[in-house]
Amino acid sequence: MENTNKWEVEAKQRFLSRIYKDEETGCWNWTGSKLKTGYGHFSAKRSTGKGWRAHRFSWILHGRELIDGLDLCHTCDNRLCVNPEHLWLGTRQENLLDCLKKNRNPNWNKTHCKHGHEYTKENTMIRYDGFRECKTCSDGHKKRWYERNKHILNAEHNKLSRKNKRIKRKMDAAALANSIR
Ligand SMILES: [Zn+2]
Ligand SMILES: [Zn+2]
Repeated sequence: MENTNKWEVEAKQRFLSRIYKDEETGCWNWTGSKLKTGYGHFSAKRSTGKGWRAHRFSWILHGRELIDGLDLCHTCDNRLCVNPEHLWLGTRQENLLDCLKKNRNPNWNKTHCKHGHEYTKENTMIRYDGFRECKTCSDGHKKRWYERNKHILNAEHNKLSRKNKRIKRKMDAAALANSIR
């Protein structure tokens, strides 16, 4: 238990030492390492190398909870900010709408996919990474993938059904043998 506390204290000190508080904006800017996505990165435990996005670690460090399925979003739109007062928990959809409002993702202004299909409500999927995907194109991909691979799928299916038939024959034979005895 004491060990846990020790590394917790150590991690907390290390974390706080990498924050630069901007008096003007109120942002706590992360000065440690950065991820490609623009978020700060923090290794809570050096030995395991388990990484955190800095704003998420800050949230927990300040006694708040992350909730599965919810994104931790910035009100200040500054990905390096780890001020818990500038963070809020929202669904991915809310986060995207927020992005849209702030025009952060230029692709959101596009009304059509690159193949000219309109991004209507029915024709749009939100991918895990937050980008939109055209359903028409995606279905086309799936269809073409199936066309390319259906001989493999059918072969697998036939192999399985042959095996099942063999097993059934054996079971029937066993049942017959039992009934004779
Ligand atoms: Zn901020
Ligand atoms: Zn399309």
